Amino acid sequence: MSEKEVRVRFAPSPTGELHLGGARTALFNWLYARHHEGTFILRIEDTDEQRSSEEHLDSILESLSWLGLDWDEGPLHQRERLDLYRDYVSLLMNSGHAYYCFASQEELEETRRQAQETDENWVYRGEDRNLSADEVRAKLDADEPHTVRFKVPDEGTVTIDDLVQGEVTFECAVLEDFVLMRSDDSPTYHLSNVVDDIEMGITHVIRGSDHLSNTPKQVLVYQALDANVPAFAHLPLILGEDGKRLSKRHGATSVNTFRTKGYLPGAVVNYLALLGWNPGDDREVFTVPDLIREFSLEKVNKANPKFDFDKLSWLNGEYISKVPAGELRLSVRDSLQIRGCWEEELDMERRDYFFALIELWQSRSHTLNELSDNIAPFLTEAFAYEPAGVREHIGNKDLLGLVEAFREALLQVDPWNQEELEATLREVAAGMDRDAADLIHVTRVAVTGKRVSPGIFEVLDLMDRDKSRVRLDRMIRYLRKLENAKAKRKEQEATKAG
Ligand code: GLU
Repeated sequence: MSEKEVRVRFAPSPTGELHLGGARTALFNWLYARHHEGTFILRIEDTDEQRSSEEHLDSILESLSWLGLDWDEGPLHQRERLDLYRDYVSLLMNSGHAYYCFASQEELEETRRQAQETDENWVYRGEDRNLSADEVRAKLDADEPHTVRFKVPDEGTVTIDDLVQGEVTFECAVLEDFVLMRSDDSPTYHLSNVVDDIEMGITHVIRGSDHLSNTPKQVLVYQALDANVPAFAHLPLILGEDGKRLSKRHGATSVNTFRTKGYLPGAVVNYLALLGWNPGDDREVFTVPDLIREFSLEKVNKANPKFDFDKLSWLNGEYISKVPAGELRLSVRDSLQIRGCWEEELDMERRDYFFALIELWQSRSHTLNELSDNIAPFLTEAFAYEPAGVREHIGNKDLLGLVEAFREALLQVDPWNQEELEATLREVAAGMDRDAADLIHVTRVAVTGKRVSPGIFEVLDLMDRDKSRVRLDRMIRYLRKLENAKAKRKEQEATKAG
């Protein structure tokens, strides 16, 4: 391995799905590796048996793959490396940097409670640091439960020259003697994380700034082991719109939810890249190769970015509008299938129709799901009228006769094209002394179910005569029902009044 080779890692604990913060960390590591033609390693920090699960691991791997963040080494599982951590603990014990701590949980809590009454900045310094070798042996022979703690120097400082946060200095006096090995012989995060970063030759630790307070402890471990300390880059935290750290409270934050809602991985990656990094100008839309070329840690800001769901949705819409229809075909088909709007394999003629539908709607849809919702009415009659469309465009407008007349006129339109359709609609409206807009709006709800749509004549043209007629028939039935209900109400009112 050459001195300069960049080796970075993403080290999730499989205790939940991959959320946006984790995905952003993975992405920045990945971009850094790809930019420097280095190595991106995936390490699974699964030593917490109780909270880790296979299911979460699978879902994390799936989300990473969906985002296109491929790893060069791994996944390595910490659970399979327990002996390694024990060997390192022996090294630290032998060099006098660690010690057995026999204090029980209750004793520790009591000591802490008493000490903090007089000094709120008190931190734990193990009394067992000073046990003689014979005393330790006796306790071990008696099988007394114990942990292994790191012996933090009483004085001095640890300075981290963070590539994002700048120089940060911690006083050793504020760092407790932290646990390296639990009483069940399992390594703590501080131990396994450092050991693996050493063993894997990690050159840069890029992670969320919520880990910054862990870093001085870890640096002390590197120093105690005489190992190279990697460079650190602590990324700014992602906030919700209320300025609090992004969490479930702010809505869906798992990558998988964005996937199922019909976001494109390219758009999600593009948006995540902007959470803390910027190119130094106001560009916002980037392809993955652009990001790889331009990404640098110097351009990562300290300021915590806010996650803007609307912006991601906008960006996703931009992506959807630019992808060739052929590439969207399978995803749209799948989501139509889920909605029960897809019957059989398309023959060539219907295939062209399907592509034309995608092209008609792709620049007007923010997600693949929205795109499928927009397309569904062209394939099936089983769609609902959007309530806002009914409220605004149908309401009490007395449209029955108008729609009936238009339905009849449509049967005569020849040739079936946008110009003829428009001329016919305007003629029908004028003939009945009505505003053409009224007829346009109700026709839109009838054929698309929506309040807004692409140009209605383009829609009718694509939909063809037969489908348009079927949908207008349905609207006519609906309007009749409205009229009947209205008539009934009037009758009841009259009876009441009488
Ligand atoms: N397993 C840790 C986490 O998921 C890794 C932290 C690190 O990157 O050092 O937060």
